[in-house]
Amino acid sequence: MASASVKVAVRVRPFNNRENERDSKSVIAMAGPTTTITGGAGQIHSFNYDYSYWSCNRSDAHFVNQKTVYEDLGVEMLEHAFQGYNVCIFAYGQTGAGKSYTMMGKPSDPEEMGIIPRLCKDLFTRCEENSSQTLKYSVEVSYLEIYCEKPRDLLNPNNTSNLRLREHPLMGPYLDELTKLVVCSYQDIYDLMDEGNKARTVAATNMNSTSSRSHAIFTIVLTQKRHDVETNMDTEKVSKISLVDLAGSERAGSTGAEGQRLKEGANINKSLTTLGLVISKLADESSKKKGKGTRATVVPYRDSMLTWLLRENLGGNSKTAMIAAISPADINFEETLSTLRYADRAKQIVCRAKINED
Ligand code: ADP
Ligand code: MG
Repeated sequence: MASASVKVAVRVRPFNNRENERDSKSVIAMAGPTTTITGGAGQIHSFNYDYSYWSCNRSDAHFVNQKTVYEDLGVEMLEHAFQGYNVCIFAYGQTGAGKSYTMMGKPSDPEEMGIIPRLCKDLFTRCEENSSQTLKYSVEVSYLEIYCEKPRDLLNPNNTSNLRLREHPLMGPYLDELTKLVVCSYQDIYDLMDEGNKARTVAATNMNSTSSRSHAIFTIVLTQKRHDVETNMDTEKVSKISLVDLAGSERAGSTGAEGQRLKEGANINKSLTTLGLVISKLADESSKKKGKGTRATVVPYRDSMLTWLLRENLGGNSKTAMIAAISPADINFEETLSTLRYADRAKQIVCRAKINED
């Protein structure tokens, strides 16, 4: 069993039109892995992460593009998946901060494609290169969103009634009856990703005209079957890759939400509030383990659908990376500071991943 901390990266996006129109100033500075945020009264908060990515200005020497983000985080996670570990990458941050850009980006554009399409592409390249008479791969994909605490099957949006939470002894919680499709090539997976992206619920808010109000989970299950000619025995390794684009982390109030939007906000926040609690408890538990003789903390995974489905990725059998997406602008100071604190807590979590092999 391998214990490792959650890997945490922070990525600052360029100023958007709204911020430019208001002549916003940057409150973020990055040096090596350190991110610093400075408040109006001059108060400085500094955090150390595994990576601090500056994508604010393309002409800047420190500018980090989609390829580098993938090479730092995605490649390592894909390698773990091939070793037989469950892996998870999730993006957190306020609406418009760059979560979907980082996770999905533009799958059709070689420069702008995000972590998910890059990882899928590499996965098939590796499968094609390494498959042989004695090593066979199979890849299965599902794509769901959680909207107002309800799951929605993005590969079959009409499949509403049968999605039930279940638990697998090895792979952990999952949704029964969720569409899972076998894919044989990058093109297959690309088509499904495209179909699912179109089905995602989007709604306008004051923050971002196409902001996503739901959590999206793209899951790939990779099975590697090896045949040993000498012993005539088969072994199988199964790894689950969960790629998660969370809903905006802002409080309902700051997006001018009313009516249905406010209700969405409450439910979205239920998952995010619970995620925050789960992260805090796990961080506490991980720091206690360094001491001795303390009782296990109760972690409220079951209090939201998101945390239940991500249970193994957060505190259990998984290698996990988090990307905290932030705006550079002074007008988003409070939200950005809250995201940076969230990411700081997540960094303290230790997961105990084991290889899924039999
Ligand atoms: P979120 O998913 O967090 O709501 P998006 O990913 O949709 O935010 O990003 C909002 C806008 O900012 C999009 O138009 C996106 O293309 C742009 N953007 C976000 N991050 C970056 C980045 N690192 N570089 C360039 N553009 C970005
Ligand atoms: Mg988004």
